[in-house]
Amino acid sequence: MASVRYATKFCKGCNNRIEIPETLAGRYIRCEKCGREVRCPSPGSKKYSKVRATQKYVAVLYVLGLIIVVALVYPLLAGGKESTYWDVRNSRAKIKRLLKEGNVDEAADVLRDLKLEHADTDDARVKRLLKECEKDVRKLDYLSTRSSTKKKQLEEQGQ
Ligand SMILES: [Zn+2]
Repeated sequence: MASVRYATKFCKGCNNRIEIPETLAGRYIRCEKCGREVRCPSPGSKKYSKVRATQKYVAVLYVLGLIIVVALVYPLLAGGKESTYWDVRNSRAKIKRLLKEGNVDEAADVLRDLKLEHADTDDARVKRLLKECEKDVRKLDYLSTRSSTKKKQLEEQGQ
């Protein structure tokens, strides 16, 4: 898009504000209000510096476009974070399955690795999942410890 710069002049007759495009540099135009001749600043004049409102509007559109592009690209960049979350979710499912099968030790191992790997996570969802896993493992660990203690006690009593 060709950018035409404009100079602002005020009519000496009626003080009408006139925006003069650089393409008219050095020529005379007539004031639209009073018809007085107004000399346009000469070619190359520094007065031609203003970008007209429509061009500002275009600039705003560019910025908006940029924001949209960033909004579209950001999820791709954040994809790593997203896949980490899904990894942890999968591990949580694995821990649940192991606990269901009674493999508390194995579940505890998976949890330990998971906690080591994601110790410095700043994703609240991952933190929450880790906490949930820990709760599950601790609960079952406690129950199984208790049941084995009980078993032992029963065995001892039986003896
Ligand atoms: Zn005028």
